[in-house]
Amino acid sequence: MKILAIGAHPDDIEIFMFGFLCCCKQMGYKISTVVATDGSLGGSNDNNKLVENRRKEAQNGLNQLSIPLFLDLPDGSLGNEAIHINTIKNSIQKVNPDLIVTHYYKDYHSDHINLSKIVKNAVGHYTPVLYCDTMMGINFNPSYYIDISNYMTDKIKSICCHKSQNPERFVKLVRLMNSYRAAQCNAPEGEYAEAYFFENSFPFSDIKDILPKSFKIRPFHIKAVNGFL
Ligand SMILES: [Zn+2]
Repeated sequence: MKILAIGAHPDDIEIFMFGFLCCCKQMGYKISTVVATDGSLGGSNDNNKLVENRRKEAQNGLNQLSIPLFLDLPDGSLGNEAIHINTIKNSIQKVNPDLIVTHYYKDYHSDHINLSKIVKNAVGHYTPVLYCDTMMGINFNPSYYIDISNYMTDKIKSICCHKSQNPERFVKLVRLMNSYRAAQCNAPEGEYAEAYFFENSFPFSDIKDILPKSFKIRPFHIKAVNGFL
């Protein structure tokens, strides 16, 4: 099984998709990663140096999953030109994945939104697209949760590779979001989950067959269930 993760900026895969990809890797799936923009707006340093730094940071952050492909599209204006669409489409065709993971089209950042729409349009009904959580979960109603507790330490380490981005704030963010998503499944404190959304469409009316197993069910009205409530 081939999984392709496409992030808009050099640290997005680590922040939003890392735990899921670790679970897929553990199942023997082949992971490919694509970073769409050059990340040149993510700092105040000299532009070229920042791009080079961020590339190295992403390579380090993702090294246990795959060697990322960098499309070097312009940060902040992804999707403004037709060539962006072709570049993204070509990168997908090269991998020919069984499943794509990318941003949700109602996320906060225009690059995330545009990338999401471009990816979906590029694959049409040929490849299922799984959308990752949005920033702070806004506009996002998950349909699939995955327990990433065993990979949380690795996820935090991978985010910390992005030194140019003051990664401590994103570590705080994922601790908050991923523990909230776990609590939504009535998992106890100290457990972490990533949440995803899949929009059913023919012939992908159900993709559970591809996905790693979701959370175990913990009914809260039964005694002795080790849950949040
Ligand atoms: Zn981003």
